[in-house]
Amino acid sequence: MSDDLNVLYREVILDHSKSPRNFRKLEGANRTAQGYNPLCGDNVTIFLLMDGDIIKDISFQGSGCAISKASASILTDAVKGKTKAEVKSMFDKVHDLLTTGNFDIDSAGKLAVFAGVHKFPARVKCAILPWYAVLSAVEGKSEPVSTE
Ligand code: ZN
Repeated sequence: MSDDLNVLYREVILDHSKSPRNFRKLEGANRTAQGYNPLCGDNVTIFLLMDGDIIKDISFQGSGCAISKASASILTDAVKGKTKAEVKSMFDKVHDLLTTGNFDIDSAGKLAVFAGVHKFPARVKCAILPWYAVLSAVEGKSEPVSTE
């Protein structure tokens, strides 16, 4: 990845961590899931309003490092209006970006920001945490998820 892209992605992450989108409790949520990353101390709760298989609305709350907060914020924007199957395929894509750092800008789109985290192995779990939580929420699981 070029340095220009790295700068851009760092800015996107900073922006989302400073002013997270959809950072609130969702009234009327019919699914919630909690995630915890003991390595860093990140906590996230995802609230979903599902209509059948479609995510009608989503929000999150929690505390943690800039990466986990930014990741949750980007996630909530990315999965709104998507189906359960689409969320699963996005999870796989993000997981791949975080573990390999390789991406195709056309198919990754906004999620490409996560490829930059690949260079910081200690932060990979921070970034994937909200994705584990949303996956658990769309699947209707009630136990908290942990990255360990
Ligand atoms: Zn963290």
